[in-house]
Amino acid sequence: MISLRQLNKSYQVGGRALHVLRNLDLDIKAGELVSIMGSSGSGKSTLLNILGILDAYDSGTYHLGDTLIRHMDERQAAKYRNELIGFVFQSFHLLPFKSAVENVALPLYYRGVPRKARQALAMDLLDRVGLAEWSSHLPSELSGGQKQRVAIARALIGKPRVVLADEPTGALDSTTSEEIMLLLEEVHSHGMTVVIVTHEADIAARTQRTILLHDGVVVS
Ligand code: ADP
Ligand code: MG
Repeated sequence: MISLRQLNKSYQVGGRALHVLRNLDLDIKAGELVSIMGSSGSGKSTLLNILGILDAYDSGTYHLGDTLIRHMDERQAAKYRNELIGFVFQSFHLLPFKSAVENVALPLYYRGVPRKARQALAMDLLDRVGLAEWSSHLPSELSGGQKQRVAIARALIGKPRVVLADEPTGALDSTTSEEIMLLLEEVHSHGMTVVIVTHEADIAARTQRTILLHDGVVVS
């Protein structure tokens, strides 16, 4: 499902190249629940952003299913992102002046789905994450765990090929983290491919496989 070959990524920092991902080879199968670990600065977010088509890479190849993700302009990247990827961020990234249901429905707005249909689907998703009665609330009226549930519902509404989560429990207390992990496990149990970046060993232990990054190289 996900296949990286000899992937390289550098940033330009103060006129010098910072080589973050080095000749990375990586395969993730459809339906896997995988974690990515590694110390701070090891390139976890860089890798996830490339997988999520939020950032470009310098050389090598990235196949998502049959699609080569390479050399896209922003418009094409946005289209692929919308169709193929569900992304969950540590800091939720909800629109502050949109209600929970409007936030969940947003990916369908960009696809041109009519308002009634996207509202109905968004309500189904909110119900699935246990927030049906919070649909008209703004993010500021929700707890951190509820905000992350809304973000997961938004990630799922477009029926993506893969859900990518960058430290999804990083801003949450341990009880709430547990609820979010249960939800991601439930999503996986329905056949979704789920990739979770984390620095918490107990989160990683609940996944089927851990990919360990060290200085931009997969070490195990
Ligand atoms: P992690 O998520 O594992 O903590 P990151 O992928 O965020 O690591 O960062 C890897 C390295 O790349 C770090 O040294 C970081 O400072 C650097 N880096 C990340 N994003 C950028 C950027 N947009 N521009 C320049 N350097 C960056
Ligand atoms: Mg990071």
